[in-house]
Amino acid sequence: MLKPLHHSPPSNESSNQAIAVLSGKPTKRGIRILDVSAEYAHFWGGERDEWLGALPKIVRREVENQQLLDQLGGALMKGELRTGDSLSGVDQSEGNLSAGVASAFIEWRITAMEMPGYAEKVLVLTQRDISKRVEKETELKRLATTDMLTGLINRARFDYLIKHEIGRLNRYIRPFSLIMLDVDYFKSVNDSLGHDVGDQVLATLSKLLEENLRESDYCARWGGEEFMILAPETALAQAVKLADKVRQRIRCSHFPGAGSVTVSMGVVEVTPHETQQSVMKRVDNALYRAKEKGRDRVEFES
Ligand code: GH3
Ligand code: MG
Ligand code: MG
Repeated sequence: MLKPLHHSPPSNESSNQAIAVLSGKPTKRGIRILDVSAEYAHFWGGERDEWLGALPKIVRREVENQQLLDQLGGALMKGELRTGDSLSGVDQSEGNLSAGVASAFIEWRITAMEMPGYAEKVLVLTQRDISKRVEKETELKRLATTDMLTGLINRARFDYLIKHEIGRLNRYIRPFSLIMLDVDYFKSVNDSLGHDVGDQVLATLSKLLEENLRESDYCARWGGEEFMILAPETALAQAVKLADKVRQRIRCSHFPGAGSVTVSMGVVEVTPHETQQSVMKRVDNALYRAKEKGRDRVEFES
């Protein structure tokens, strides 16, 4: 008779680990459960006793679970699983799954080992709900890629996106354009109305940008009062049109505390095999020209 595995009630995430000991000697009926912890029964439903001799549940999707069991069975038959070898993964649920586990992410690991009390080598399956950890990581990632004042993506994230789009352009020859936007005479907004009003102008402007762009466009705060827009699948002529529409919307909008504000913009279409450095230089030149020609206008480089 096997001694039941550790039976404390499930508590927090770090200790909430489900364990099942599986036979390391596959039979025609496949890999079977030799023993489970209380947490395993809690994870998957039912009583501990009902799991003894049953087929193990590694992941929630039936088909995927069976594939893993077949793979393990095959490896055992061929003697490919040595003591200490392990297999692991993360089971991610999409919508409602029939099993009793509500958690979105379960990390699982199967390790072949010798265990006291068992004559043969066994497979130890451990499972842990890592949803909280994944949630925290997702939130940290969001914070790391977001500009605090405006809620737009930040420069680091935008930099990554440009690189990604350049890669895509070179593989599939899909056009994309960049728009650089700079607030006109922003220093005087700060100087005459105060930094807080200046901050609010940047926040209002960001909202206007988001409202006037497509879902597929990326808009970032590039620095101080400079913004960048990446318009995928957009050639120069359309991008110039888009920039001018945004420019006009901004000049017609009311900015609380500051009244009206204008912006200047530079536009370029990125050409295949162009370096990021060259794109940035061109868009910066276009913006510089818009400033030189009197501001509140759009200039482009072809
Ligand atoms: P131009 O039309 O040539 O762009 O003139 P400008 O005054 O907008 O340009 P300049 O580069 O001289 O000034 C930009 C100002 O933006 C200076 C800086 O203090 C201000 N600024 C940068 N970041 C922030 C911010 O986060 N909040 C506020 N309130 N001001 C900022
Ligand atoms: Mg500037
Ligand atoms: Mg400026």
